[in-house]
Amino acid sequence: MGIHASLLAEVRACTRCADLPLGPNPILQFHPEARILIAGQAPGRRVHQSGVPFDDASGRRLREWLGMHPEVFYDPRKVAILPMGFCYPGTGKSGDLPPRPECAAAWRARLLEGLPRLETTLVLGQYAQRYHFGAAAGSLTDLVRAWRDPWPRLVPLPHPSPRNTLWLRRHPWFEAEVLPALRAMLAEVLAR
Ligand code: SF4
Repeated sequence: MGIHASLLAEVRACTRCADLPLGPNPILQFHPEARILIAGQAPGRRVHQSGVPFDDASGRRLREWLGMHPEVFYDPRKVAILPMGFCYPGTGKSGDLPPRPECAAAWRARLLEGLPRLETTLVLGQYAQRYHFGAAAGSLTDLVRAWRDPWPRLVPLPHPSPRNTLWLRRHPWFEAEVLPALRAMLAEVLAR
């Protein structure tokens, strides 16, 4: 078994968070050849059940944003999918609970080291932003508005959840400016 396969097997067997409402079920996509990383939040209930990352409304919107066919999106040699928490964290009063902090602490650095060909990381939502940009990065909107600064190594994006439809309506420049540039950049990365 190669190093990446044994690391992946180790993650899949993880039971660190013993109190998860539906139990541990790590959902991620990882291969050392991946050139694009999608850094998300945590699986929802539906994804917990199917075991397929972004197999939900957020995923449909995300693939539309990226202009990416499911065949490419689900090819681990092209795209790695590492949410901040790999297991469904449960639901609170206002939607899904935050990703379990144990998860990034335990796994993220080792998995990121295992992606030597990475060219761009799409950073979805506030939890991934805090990790990939640091706590001092400012608000999600400010970060996304300044998308050109870390481009193309890091791409700050709002979370594609249906809960963010109002944000999208309020910030039409995101769909008009950021998404066309993002699609073009990803097509270049994938063509290399
Ligand atoms: S959320 Fe992460 S750390 Fe917690 S049990 Fe799942 S894989 Fe392990």
